[in-house]
Amino acid sequence: MQHIDKIYINGEFVTPHGTELFELFNPATEEVIGTVRMADVEDTQRAIAAAKAAFPTWSQTTKEQRLAVLERMHAAVSAREEQLMEAIIMEYGAPVSRSRWMATYPADVILQAMDALKSFEFEQQAGMAQVVMSPVGVAGLITPWNSDAGFICNKLATAMAAGCTAVIKPSEMSAIQTRIITEALHEANIPAGVFNIVTGRGDVVGEEINTHPDIAKISFTGSTAVGKHIVSTSSASLKRVTLELGGKSPTIILDDADVAQAVPMALMAGFMNSGQACVAGTRILVPQSRLAEFEQTFATAVNNTISGNPQASETEIGPMVSRKQWERVQSYIKMGVQEGAKLLAGGEGRPEGVDKGWFVKPTLFTQVNNQMRIAREEIFGPVLVIIPYQDDAEAVKIANDTSYGLSAMVLSGNTPRAVSIARQIESGRVLVNTLAHEPQAPFGGFKQSGLGREMGQWGLSAYLEPKTLLVG
Ligand code: NAD
Repeated sequence: MQHIDKIYINGEFVTPHGTELFELFNPATEEVIGTVRMADVEDTQRAIAAAKAAFPTWSQTTKEQRLAVLERMHAAVSAREEQLMEAIIMEYGAPVSRSRWMATYPADVILQAMDALKSFEFEQQAGMAQVVMSPVGVAGLITPWNSDAGFICNKLATAMAAGCTAVIKPSEMSAIQTRIITEALHEANIPAGVFNIVTGRGDVVGEEINTHPDIAKISFTGSTAVGKHIVSTSSASLKRVTLELGGKSPTIILDDADVAQAVPMALMAGFMNSGQACVAGTRILVPQSRLAEFEQTFATAVNNTISGNPQASETEIGPMVSRKQWERVQSYIKMGVQEGAKLLAGGEGRPEGVDKGWFVKPTLFTQVNNQMRIAREEIFGPVLVIIPYQDDAEAVKIANDTSYGLSAMVLSGNTPRAVSIARQIESGRVLVNTLAHEPQAPFGGFKQSGLGREMGQWGLSAYLEPKTLLVG
């Protein structure tokens, strides 16, 4: 049992003023593995005051000084890889195959922020004027449970690279991972107040960040519903807002695709992170002319996808993070059947032979209509739908008929043809015959998948305001 009873304010671990306790679970066993004492409004205000006090000095540091601090941060986070990996499996249930990536990403993303900083031009000439890119102020960084350490490190490293100080509100459900990262950041000897971490409830700590006049910017990753709420509540002080939200990403399989290559790639995109990924390719668009062939190959592959013990090397899908998430996924599987979709693999309940833990059966529906709720709403679990289409134009129309636009994939035997389809998709990212990730490129969503971009030069710019200097 871990009892987490400290938050981090002004360079110190302190006992929260808040007294509410939250239980932490191992989703594979449903056992309580810890408690976290949560911060309250007073703690949040202290954290914001510390970040505000640290801002005048940190915002004036040079690129070299920031790089030196980020370098220490990278070394300290790298050194925690094994500990982080253990926590990710225990607290989040990510299978070993996935958790290694999740444990290395937090350090990698700090290096990526450093790369962006190295090449960033903070000053440029515009006619007679000097334009100085200036840090916006104290940033409120609000993160979800599905990649706790990765999101904390990405947002914090980028904010610090820009010269901002920060108050971080991680998900209360990931407190063990947050503790490991906080200890690493403390060891990195970052000047007091530059970062503060207040784990607590969204409607308490999050709400104070949304409304406090000394928060100049919010960078939020989480659900579209909370993202919209942040836009409205933060508008009183016109905070700058970056939102990374949900998705219902299409994978378009063109009629010239090789079934043996396309099916595993589509499933990797769909079942990524046990289906609990914002970018998951959950709508698979298959040409009607080849539907039967694809259905057969997909059904076999999904039936062979192992959902179970996250410690086992062969496991591809771990448990859902919480009972609530498990129930949500079950309700969507039930809904799919009620809506008249044909169940091709999986279904309600736990996988065969499993009687505890928040495990679900990898599930695939076919003959789905894009108007069904299972085709429109983010389920956030390993539940995929096959939507048949007649021709390329209809595939593009269905792909774009969504309120989301975070990611998409096009699979084809003819790359130029696939690229021409990719150009017509309304999405922040489109992958063509690949699952690659490019950290120098902007990441974010069209439509209700977000606002603004993270990563690379675009991510850094989001923490800066252009200031025009005209000298007589
Ligand atoms: P969530 O929106 O419930 O919570 C995210 C964070 O917001 C948590 O820290 C939560 O405590 C906080 N929060 C809740 N209410 C708040 C409020 N009123 N004010 C301020 N903060 C508040 O999301 P979640 O369930 O933790 O994560 C899953 C969601 O995140 C999915 O919708 C997923 O698509 C999305 N997501 C998006 C990306 C992306 O990069 N686009 C990445 C990962 C996850």
